Amino acid sequence: MSLRFESLPLTPEMLKVIADIGYVQQTPIQAQAIPLLLEGKDVIAQSKTGSGKTAAFAIPLLQKIAVKDNFIQALVLSPTRELCTQVAREIRKIGRSEKNLKVVTLSGGHAAYFDVKSLEYGAHIAVGTPGRLLDLINRDKLNLTHVQMVVLDEADRMLDMGFRDKIEEILKKTPTNRQTVLFSATYPNTIETLSRQYQKSPKRITIDAAEDEIQAIEQIVINTHPATKTDALLRFLASRPLESVLIFCNQKLTVGELVTDLRKCGSSVDKLHGDLDQGERERVMAKFRNQTTRILVATDVAARGIDIAGLDAVINYDFPGDPAQYVHRIGRTGRAGKKGVAVSFLTSRESEKLVAVRDYITAEISVIEATEIKKVKQSEFKRVGTPTKMETISISAGRKDKIRAGDILGALTGDVGIAGTDVGKIEILDRVSFVAITQSSAKQAMTRLSGGKIKGRKFIVQMVR
Ligand code: ADP
Ligand code: MG
Repeated sequence: MSLRFESLPLTPEMLKVIADIGYVQQTPIQAQAIPLLLEGKDVIAQSKTGSGKTAAFAIPLLQKIAVKDNFIQALVLSPTRELCTQVAREIRKIGRSEKNLKVVTLSGGHAAYFDVKSLEYGAHIAVGTPGRLLDLINRDKLNLTHVQMVVLDEADRMLDMGFRDKIEEILKKTPTNRQTVLFSATYPNTIETLSRQYQKSPKRITIDAAEDEIQAIEQIVINTHPATKTDALLRFLASRPLESVLIFCNQKLTVGELVTDLRKCGSSVDKLHGDLDQGERERVMAKFRNQTTRILVATDVAARGIDIAGLDAVINYDFPGDPAQYVHRIGRTGRAGKKGVAVSFLTSRESEKLVAVRDYITAEISVIEATEIKKVKQSEFKRVGTPTKMETISISAGRKDKIRAGDILGALTGDVGIAGTDVGKIEILDRVSFVAITQSSAKQAMTRLSGGKIKGRKFIVQMVR
């Protein structure tokens, strides 16, 4: 099977965009799913987070849309507002050669009135959470009569979150001749049931938990006592130069406690768990992506599906419950040819969990005792995360306010302003934007951005702390 995008029957415009974005070859899930989806087959596909599932359905989906027809032709269901935003962003990116293409996100976070308005203007693709979608359908604001394709992204997660009834109700409101596609990181029985009820002779695709990628990760298990776990973690963090670290806890409560402990030691750390509202999540993620925060502590639920590139380390503060979860968590490090490290703390009561992981993967795991990590001075803890290179600034305007990255860059660098090299990632969301800026230029950036230099308009500009 060729991995080249050119081997697919895609329009030249689509191929050009893909090349421009920098996707050189298909990921394994794309190579298997795209041809089947282009043929119109129902597909149930499973592969790990970060394996390119979004483009795997977005590319065929976009090829089916007729932009001249001003109605919803494809529906994507995704579990959270944040994931909906990510999916919509990827669809727009890949669909950008179609100037009039409209992708709406219907996922709450603001009054439904705004959603109704965007739908009234006309749209081709709707990406939404089951709750908000169903709400709009029941109020006759979302017409599904022309839907050809329904994608359930992160289907496992949506079922975990109790969306089953809502998903079924939505599916029942779509035309029966639709193409139904399920994408998932894991494959619980509940998905099988859903598939049997709503898909027609589905093709099943399973991409193995990428053995070779896991091979590239240095895996360490640290035997520890529950009472000394945090101490062992701090010593580990201080023992290596790590720039970006994701720490998993099994419970929300532990996330809060650990963040407090790490802060006490001067670490630059934030938490991510299910209770944060959308604005808080967006700020936390933006800071972490910009490396304004170096450590993110999260639960599985909160970190699910979130794509963060270039992690140096994933740490299982709590050992994951099952081997698939272990692979799923640690697979987030060591991406893009970088060698990552995965560290997992294990208490004596949990030893059978390690046995299960060793049965599940072939890669080497070294086991050490917490006492083997060298003792470090309190001052050395600070090394983790303190040298923040970039600050993150938020601007109260986004895509819906017709703000583009170029506008912000222009405001910062225009008329002999800040050097372009001091400006990092610019992220435009629906109603907010984030810009990374070197510490030395942060003050000047605040002044320029709040001084009405963005398209001559005034917005609320804040340093995200
Ligand atoms: P998943 O949904 O499987 O978790 P995503 O769709 O979020 O994964 O993709 C993960 C990352 O990989 C994204 O940053 C995306 O832009 C990138 N990506 C997707 N397809 C390719 C490709 N063919 N080549 C290079 N990068 C890709
Ligand atoms: Mg995804």
